[in-house]
Amino acid sequence: MVTLDNLTVSYRQHPALHHISGQFAPGSFTAVIGPNGSGKSTLLKSIMGLLKPAGGQVTVTPPRARIAYLPQLSEIDRSFPMSVYDCVLLGCWSRVGAWGRVTPALQNQVAAAIHEVGLEGFEQRTVGSLSSGQFQRVLFARLLVQDAELILLDEPFTAMDSRTTAALLALVHQWHEQGRTVIAVLHDDAQVLAHFPQTLLLARELVAWGKTSEVLTPVHLQRARALAEAWDDHADICHTDEAPTPRQAA
Ligand code: ADP
Ligand code: MG
Repeated sequence: MVTLDNLTVSYRQHPALHHISGQFAPGSFTAVIGPNGSGKSTLLKSIMGLLKPAGGQVTVTPPRARIAYLPQLSEIDRSFPMSVYDCVLLGCWSRVGAWGRVTPALQNQVAAAIHEVGLEGFEQRTVGSLSSGQFQRVLFARLLVQDAELILLDEPFTAMDSRTTAALLALVHQWHEQGRTVIAVLHDDAQVLAHFPQTLLLARELVAWGKTSEVLTPVHLQRARALAEAWDDHADICHTDEAPTPRQAA
């Protein structure tokens, strides 16, 4: 479904992912974990085609319209005055197009998705007026109508209350049972162990990738931490990665 071939991704020459190789099989259900700044979001964006590799490549089987991507909540601007209904309807975008008609069948799908995430009665509320848990439910309803083969989730449960987390986790399990490929960035090891059969542990480079029980070992976690501490040591030395600006003549 997704093949990473010696993938390196850099921001202004500073690699956030180095030489990552491996495959996400069709129907696989994988957690991506690692310390802060270890390249987890960068990996999802690279799979989504939002970032261009500095080296190597990412090959993705499904067409773009069959890939769904949920960014980290902190990266989403929801000040735009859009209703819950319209936000979910956007999930049908690839089938409706700019001038297409929203058929009764699509309207039913949107209504069913809103019902499934427990937001009936919220259809006309603006997304900006929702709590973060309610907004995450809206985004999951949008993923439901998108009907994607490959689903990328970046920290979907961070800052969610336990009821929302349980409801959304149930949806993710359902996607897995339907044979969709799910890749989710998570930070709760207990949650990963309980729900995700496969895990990819990143620390800019690949630390381990395989069965969750074999990846989440003290040795691997210690190695990831040690690598992350080494970046902090460098932070003082290369605190800016911009090219030095030429001094102005006095
Ligand atoms: P994670 O999701 O694992 O916390 P990210 O993929 O967001 O990590 O970031 C990996 C590294 O790349 C971090 O050091 C981060 O500061 C850096 N980075 C991320 N996005 C940008 C950007 N747009 N410009 C410059 N550096 C970035
Ligand atoms: Mg991130």
